[in-house]
Amino acid sequence: MRPGIPPPSPDRAGAPSGFSDLAPLGQPPDAPTPARDPIRRARWLVVFVCLALLATNVWLIVDARAHAIAQAQLASTNLARAVTERMEAAVSEADHILDSLVYELERSDLSPTALEPMQPLLVNHVARTEQLKGLFVYDARGAWVATSVPQWDPGWNNADRAYFIHHRDNPSASTLIGPPILSRSSGEWIVPVSRRLNGVDGEFAGVALATLSVRHLRSMLERFDVGEGAILLTVVGRMVARNPSIDADIGKPLPPSEVTTFLATHRSGTVDARSPLDGVARLVSFEHARNYPLQVTVAAGKRQVLANWRINSALQTVWVGFLCLLLQRAGAYTRRTMAQRLQAEAGLREARDALTRANEQLAALARIDELTRLPNRRYFDRRFARVFRQAQREGSPLAVVMVDVDDFKKYNDRYGHVEGDECLRRVAATLRATVQRPEDFVARYGGEEMVLLLPQTDQLGATLVAEAARTAVAAMDIPHAAVVAGKVTISLGVAAIVPGQQDTEPALLKAADAALYEAKRKGRNQVAISG
Ligand code: GH3
Ligand code: MG
Ligand code: MG
Repeated sequence: MRPGIPPPSPDRAGAPSGFSDLAPLGQPPDAPTPARDPIRRARWLVVFVCLALLATNVWLIVDARAHAIAQAQLASTNLARAVTERMEAAVSEADHILDSLVYELERSDLSPTALEPMQPLLVNHVARTEQLKGLFVYDARGAWVATSVPQWDPGWNNADRAYFIHHRDNPSASTLIGPPILSRSSGEWIVPVSRRLNGVDGEFAGVALATLSVRHLRSMLERFDVGEGAILLTVVGRMVARNPSIDADIGKPLPPSEVTTFLATHRSGTVDARSPLDGVARLVSFEHARNYPLQVTVAAGKRQVLANWRINSALQTVWVGFLCLLLQRAGAYTRRTMAQRLQAEAGLREARDALTRANEQLAALARIDELTRLPNRRYFDRRFARVFRQAQREGSPLAVVMVDVDDFKKYNDRYGHVEGDECLRRVAATLRATVQRPEDFVARYGGEEMVLLLPQTDQLGATLVAEAARTAVAAMDIPHAAVVAGKVTISLGVAAIVPGQQDTEPALLKAADAALYEAKRKGRNQVAISG
């Protein structure tokens, strides 16, 4: 119940009564959405995919290189092994011939008569064995006593040869293979394979020698196709033959290098190094023969080994680069369309917000009276219907106060319409200031009539509000020379009920109107109460 005029609620102080359900005007548009986020994400996705592609490419290239080198190593290791076995077989054949020769010679006294029938045997052996250059027998002083060579001088002596000195000073019966030397009989490079001849009592009786043709050994190497690579045969660490050939280096030791050191300390293996002979980067595989001091070295040209890998890697990289470019272009296109779409969406959102704001302003304008800035009649009717139903539901009191300016026609006649309008504005403002509860509502009913709608207010409370309004208007002291009071006053009609189901809004309004007429009839500037 309204016990009197309550103080204004602090948050609504100054807010015009009757505007409580008006939407705020000119609200700012929605905060801008982080539209660039998906675009940035799309860009990063493209960058990530490109990086992944490039990383995969690098990995594939590295892997392919390792594979190419492993394949080349396998091939050259196998080649080294095959060549070693061929060389070993060639030496072994000469060794066997020497073996049978030594057997025969040790059962003879090495006299010219004993050796005479052996001569054709020696010639025959050399003729049948390709790698054999010659067969020779020397006596204990190094003199030539038998040979496969057709033309020789009995005055020749080989006691100064290293193999001769070795056998003379060493009782071992095993075969000796020496470094390549220039033959005295033919002037060609040969590899000496020799055995010691023992007398009946085991004393030194001479040397049997088989010479291997370096030219033939080289032609054996040349049967293997090595491309840009090389095959080298060394005997006791000296170069004997090479494909491609190195005639100038025959008999020389391998120049000191990483490869040479490795060769000296390992039985077989592969080294990735520069060749000590030509300085070319090579994969060097080597193999030592099992029974003889022979080594075969196969060097594969690294450039050739990696030629295919280089071409494939280049093609692959170009392809990946092309894919990255394509991705980048596709990404840029997607980002562009995405940006356009987002921009369009933002534009639409903005337009929608502007339209909503305009509609709200229009709606607000449609509810407000231009002159007094009070809610208009239409708005009052809607509000009244709602408040009336609510009071019906709750069984709470509801009051309506009809307000009319006294002798306003005369005011207009006296001061003119413009002054009249200003007077109405001031009266409206005073009424609005008088009703202070948030749910109270002041509207312009029509002409110079206004209405107060006071929910939760009984007759007594409404009368107090009406009386306060009347006093406030009179207190403004707006001059009105055409009336006895000398100032502008208002008359008010109060009607209050606790609306039941049979009650209607027009009936309540009518009651307030009737009370207003009663106030007029009684002399104006007063409050009359319905019933
Ligand atoms: P009463 O005391 O009996 O109410 O006398 P009254 O002259 O006020 O009575 P009436 O209703 O006949 O006259 C109302 C006048 O109010 C008529 C009209 O000229 C004036 N009026 C109505 N609306 C406006 C308005 O918007 N502006 C102005 N200036 N005058 C208005
Ligand atoms: Mg009137
Ligand atoms: Mg009037």
